Order: sequence, then C-alpha cells, then structure tokens
Amino acid sequence: MATGDAPRRFVPFDEARATILAAAAPRVMPAETLPLDDALGRTLREDIVADAPFPAFANSAMDGFAVRASDVAAAPVELTVLETVAAGRVATRTVGAGEAIRIMTGAAMPVGADAVVPVELTANGAGADRVLVRSAVAAREHVRPAGEDFVAGDRLVAAGAVVDAGVIAVMAATGHASADVSMVPRVAILSTGDELVSPGDAVGPGQIRDSNTHMLRAMVRAAGCEPGPCWRLMDDPDAVAAAVGRVIEHCEVIVTIGGVSAGDFDPVKQALSRLGEVELWRVGMRPGQPQAFGVVDGKLFFGLPGNPVSVAVVFEMLVRPALWTLLGRSSLDRPVVRAVLADAAVSKAGRRDFLRVTLEALSVEETKRVGAPYRARLTGTQSSGAVSSVVRAQGLAVVPDAFDHIDVGTCVDVLSW
Ligand code: AMP
Ligand code: MG
Repeated sequence: MATGDAPRRFVPFDEARATILAAAAPRVMPAETLPLDDALGRTLREDIVADAPFPAFANSAMDGFAVRASDVAAAPVELTVLETVAAGRVATRTVGAGEAIRIMTGAAMPVGADAVVPVELTANGAGADRVLVRSAVAAREHVRPAGEDFVAGDRLVAAGAVVDAGVIAVMAATGHASADVSMVPRVAILSTGDELVSPGDAVGPGQIRDSNTHMLRAMVRAAGCEPGPCWRLMDDPDAVAAAVGRVIEHCEVIVTIGGVSAGDFDPVKQALSRLGEVELWRVGMRPGQPQAFGVVDGKLFFGLPGNPVSVAVVFEMLVRPALWTLLGRSSLDRPVVRAVLADAAVSKAGRRDFLRVTLEALSVEETKRVGAPYRARLTGTQSSGAVSSVVRAQGLAVVPDAFDHIDVGTCVDVLSW
C-alpha cells in the first residue's frame, strides 16, 4: 500500500474535541501549594470561602465627622467634637446628641453615630472642639456597613478559576497566605521537516524558517503551561519514533508539527504504528484537517499539520482546551461575540471553518440594523500557510458545519483570539 493511502478516519470537529477532552479528563495535574504571590496565572484547586464578614465592622468611607444624622438634618449646625479616630483605632467615646467624632477613612464607626459628614462639608466651629456642619447627611451615608462586600460562608472564588490579581486580593482579604494550584503540564514540541532552519540561520535554496516551534512555545506559555523539550527533526520516521520515546518522560503532552498529511515523506504518519494508541484523523475543520491524536504511555499525543495557520488554529481549538482540562480549569472556552460578516466565504457541508477576522464595534443603530454588535472582516487570504494572518486576526469566525458557503451580511459567532 502506498503511504499516501494510509487509512484515515473522518471525525467531525465536535467528536474530535469530545474524544480529546475525554482523554484529558482523567489526567488532571496534581495540586501543589504555593505562596500567594507566586500563584499568579495558575489554576486554583480550592474554593475560596469567606470565614468572616468583610468589612468586619462598619467603618467610615470618608475623612470627616461621625454624627447622628438627626442632629445635622437642620444644617448648618455646630457640634462638639469628642475625639479623633484614625483607621486602625477605635473610638473611646459614644456619640450623643449634639456631638461628633472626627473620623478617618476606614476607621470603625463610633457607637451612637449613624452617618459621616465629609470634611469638605464642614468648617471650624466657634472653639477648638467645635465643628460647623454645613450640609445634612442621611442616615448610613458615607458608612460602609459590616459585611457589605461579603459575609462568612460566601464562596468568593470557585476551584478551577485562574488566579489573577483580583483572586489574589480576595485570597489575601480572607486570610489565605498560600494557594492550592495545579502543577503545570509540560508540552514537548517536535517539529518535523527537512526544509526547516532556525530563525537566526541563513536560509538556503528550498529552505524555510521554523516559525511553528516558536509560535507553539509561545502559545503553550500563554495557555498557562510550560514548553518541555523542543526538538527539530528531519523527515525520518525512525527519528520521530526515537524522539517521542526520549521526551515522553519529560512531559505530559507531546505535540508534533508537520509530517502528518498524505505525502510519501510524512514521518509522523509513518511512525504512528510504533507510537501506541495514536490514530490518523481527518478532522472536519479548516484549517487543520489532517491530524493524529492518541495516548502514548499515558501522555496525550497530538500530531498537528505543518502549515502555520493550521498549527495556530488546531492548538487553539483542540490542544489548548485539553491543556486547560489538565490544569483543572472550570471554563475551557474563550469569550464569544456575534458579528456580521463583511466578506463572503466558501466552506463545505460537514466541515467547521475558522476564519481569521478583524472586528469593528458597531453603533447602537447599526447593531439593530444588522443584528450583531460587531462587523467581522477576513484578514485577507485564508490560506493555511499565511502566517501573517495569525498576527492580524482579532478573532476566529466560526462557520457552522452545515454551511457550504457564507454570504456577506450573515451573522456568526467570533471567538476571541
Ligand atoms: P507538512 O505537513 O509537513 O507537509 O507541512 C506543511 C507545510 O507547513 C509545508 O509548507 C511546511 O514547509 C510548512 N511547515 C512545516 N513545519 C513548519 C514549521 N515548523 N515552521 C514553518 N512552516 C512549517
Ligand atoms: Mg513536512
């Protein structure tokens, strides 16, 4: 049998994704505990539940005077200032009729007071211990009540969230000095191709620069994972099989690039039988049809096509969700917006096309007229070799499987890129 005739199963996009995620699901990374400040970007493995209300006590939202609102209802009025209380201190006196306590932002509300008059609405009174209140304030005005932000028992962050600055703030505010997070999956990258040279090397006749390895390393990092061994291989099935054998101990995921389509020199395709449970696929997507996927010695194995745009889109649509599953993330999806297409495109029934588009926000009137809040334009050629389109794209417009073409003016989902 000619190698070009290797059996290759057609797999609809949704089935490919479901198969990949099902293989990833039992392989969620173990958790580790990190100092809070080192947890940025990691995936949380614990729920963050408040053990106390915040703020724990009613406090002033302004620098000013803690008063009884009923005393200042008929402002201007003069009050006697009993003492001054700064943040971190507690008043020693109770505010009675005709009295006030000078208070700083964040200081606990004194007993008896129910409102704060901002200092801007006051003036010196007749005597050092007197304040002139020039405007009335309502009860509870400029007071932050206890539990305004959250109360004990509130689940503030759920396991599976990405630790960002806000999560770190909430964890600090609830007394977490450390964070339980997922360990980081390592992704080995094996590029194949006799034609490839490093970006810094001279390009001989028939050669091209290896952009995919570098793009993929960046995409792996951007997905919160760590590039493992990254090797460039010649188009030699023995070299591919040997390399997989050598990197497998040092990674959780192996991604090969190129050499998986129908050509006679496609080394990944030819090495598959030696790799384990890896299957050649023709995935119902464009770009990115010829692929391989399987599990080798418990590690996820992705055979990506070689064209740079295919690598980018297949990584984004199939590999990244698998990595996020390994990380234990609760959401695998990117934000989606609806957009009206400004360009027509051809597709094929049974295939999901991911078009590289730029996005333009529309006015309220235009949104009503066209039925979507954005207009999407193709980035130019949708050729899977057009690496520059990856830079220009702001989103991936999804052409559903059932469509064989898409007309100007059609509204589609656009995934943020
Ligand atoms: P292949 O799937 O190996 O036939 O590769 C498809 C196309 O992608 C060919 O034009 C290759 O030269 C190109 N290609 C493969 N690997 C890379 C890479 N690492 N960087 C840039 N282009 C590549
Ligand atoms: Mg190749």
